[in-house]
Amino acid sequence: FVGLLLIGCQQDPSLNKNIEESKIDQNVEELLAKMTLEEKVGQMNQYSGFMDFTGPQPDQGRAAKKLEHIKQGLVGSMLNVHGVENVRAVQKIAVEESRLGIPLIFGFDVIHGYKSVSPIPLAEAASWDLKAIKRSAEIAAEEASAAGINWTFAPMVDISRDARWGRVMEGAGEDPYLGSEIAKARINGFQGDDLSATHTVAATAKHFAAYGFAEAGREYNTVDIGTSTLYNVVFPPFRAAVEADVKTIMTAFNVLNGIPATGNKFLLRDILKGKWNFDGFVVTDWDSAGEMIAHGFVKDGRAAAKQAVIAGSDMDMESYHYIEELVSLVEAGEVDVKLIDDSVRRILKVKYELGLFEDPYKYCSEAREQETVNHPKFREELRDIAKKSIVLLKNEKDLLPLKSAGQNIAVIGALANDKTSPLGSWRLAADTGTAVSVLEGLAKFDQNTYTYSKGAEVIIGKASFTKELQINTSDTSGFADAISAAKSADVVVMVLGEHGLQSGEARSRTRIDLPGVQQELLEEVYKVNPNIVLVLQNGRPLALPWADEHIPAIVEAWQLGTESGNAIADVLYGAYNPSGKLPMTFPRHVGQVPIYYNHKSTGRPYLPSPGEVFWSHYSDEKNTPLYPFGYGLSYTSFSFKDLQVKNTYADNKTVSVSVTLSNTGKRKGKATAQLYIHDEYASVTRPVKELKRFEQVELQPGESQNITFQLTDEDLGFYTNKGEFIVEEGSFRVFVGEDSQAELTETFEL
Ligand code: BGC
Repeated sequence: FVGLLLIGCQQDPSLNKNIEESKIDQNVEELLAKMTLEEKVGQMNQYSGFMDFTGPQPDQGRAAKKLEHIKQGLVGSMLNVHGVENVRAVQKIAVEESRLGIPLIFGFDVIHGYKSVSPIPLAEAASWDLKAIKRSAEIAAEEASAAGINWTFAPMVDISRDARWGRVMEGAGEDPYLGSEIAKARINGFQGDDLSATHTVAATAKHFAAYGFAEAGREYNTVDIGTSTLYNVVFPPFRAAVEADVKTIMTAFNVLNGIPATGNKFLLRDILKGKWNFDGFVVTDWDSAGEMIAHGFVKDGRAAAKQAVIAGSDMDMESYHYIEELVSLVEAGEVDVKLIDDSVRRILKVKYELGLFEDPYKYCSEAREQETVNHPKFREELRDIAKKSIVLLKNEKDLLPLKSAGQNIAVIGALANDKTSPLGSWRLAADTGTAVSVLEGLAKFDQNTYTYSKGAEVIIGKASFTKELQINTSDTSGFADAISAAKSADVVVMVLGEHGLQSGEARSRTRIDLPGVQQELLEEVYKVNPNIVLVLQNGRPLALPWADEHIPAIVEAWQLGTESGNAIADVLYGAYNPSGKLPMTFPRHVGQVPIYYNHKSTGRPYLPSPGEVFWSHYSDEKNTPLYPFGYGLSYTSFSFKDLQVKNTYADNKTVSVSVTLSNTGKRKGKATAQLYIHDEYASVTRPVKELKRFEQVELQPGESQNITFQLTDEDLGFYTNKGEFIVEEGSFRVFVGEDSQAELTETFEL
């Protein structure tokens, strides 16, 4: 009997987990009891490091002070220190020279890869392939952890409906369901099953909350949104992240309905740590505690520290206000030491979970770094996820796939020969010039001849992550050469779009067209040869109505990372049949923004009769997008039929929806069946469509497959304006199809 019991214990991993957790809690308590107030506040202090810790310091004064603080045990974490030599050197000071020797946790923005760069997150989201997305995060974790990093500030799970906002490149687009699924995949990829393993890192869901709703898409701007949007659109991916056991959450720069996120007790204590039971720690965004002064919320650094800690921000990134003010705030009785203890417990717990107390240098193996970072073994998998991220937007005149031999192809556009822009923004450790360019990718298909002409630069001068870019708005001197190359070509491949640093943080735009003179170049080339395949490289949805009307083939290739050119060539030549689907609506015109598929209906949604004016519309543009959410073509075609709803909600609270999906074309291809619902009448109005399920299926020509989706309360309910989740009786509509304009529909009643 005892033997059986023991076997039972061993087989229940949750039991082991509980034992480990209570051991960690005990260790944390013992350590906490030994700490002075200063040392506790030290754990809550995060400094940015020096890129090369061993080299000359750019800012001797501040750097020296930071080092001194590490020695005194006044620093809990460093960011921007990476590479084993650097991490080891800094860790050594913390472990050997501070009184308690508490190891530092090393954070870094590993957003889409460390040195081997995967597609920007928005591009990966377009794959709708959760396995591939998870694998991409695993690769990033494996490489970054080999370089000394044990904590990444990713994934960004901010939903956004505004293509003007440059940071859309870093997220999963506009949909809370897709966003939640992707958030979980990324967190599982980064953190793995065992956080203490050397190849995994702690993840951060950021930026809590509503950063993607900055007014007018202008970076860092005010956010004022209603509770319905907050609970039903903004929160779900964060909640999913907490359920996936994300270890940290980062606050947002913005105010939310008048209260800065970093000092927002409702967000951090009531929702995150209260309702959702989040037991990791909250880190502020860079100086966001200090920025509460400029927001007009607190008058000085002391008030900022007090407000942030009371609200529930556990670790302060680079504002210095915690380290400067918290001790005296506690001593003055203005901040309860219990709050400090709670924050420190949370931070120490993650350090224990990472295994840093067992071995503070466990991420510091030079041999592993040498062996892992930039390893060619990652290339094939990065190419795979890059291919899957490409979205075919238009394909007429049979231009694609390209014929594999005997063609004279003109390749035009500065981005075609650019080995850095495809790396996108937020790839802080990757070396410039390391992406495979489109030209290089195409050249491997060597039965055709290629003539390259730049046509026009996208930017003038050198690009920098921290400086404004200078866009080329006048130099058309390269047009003549491009036109002459196009004239004698069978097909023209034009690679146009945004420079790699034109999206990302602080890169808002009011125009979301082709920057500079690229539109003009496109039109001039079209005049001499309309057989154009337009390959777009961009970090946000673009509004390109002219191209949609005139150009026969359009391929959305985002910024696809290290393997970009290879992946693009694979798709252009049909070595991979495109399967990507837009995770964000592409507008016809920037004036339609915010435009998103899961909008509410108005009281006047329908055109009363031609020429009448009193309905919800623009007088100079259609309401519909250029390309809807979920949209993407294939080299084959698919059809859906036999939509059936089996409503057993009364018995088992389940509604099953089944449909038959067929490949009706001539090639093998992967379809993404998308299921949307509409709750027709509700006590708080519901969107016209909401994605609730999707499934990817690969089918041979002529092959069919039956797909069944199960909907439960979680899918059928919604949050009220008080934040309560309810399921209401009434009629629902279900839609299944290839994108958010799916028309195959059935109804059911709850
Ligand atoms: C960004 C964060 C990032 C942090 C650290 C901030 O400017 O908003 O997303 O993690 O910097 O680099």
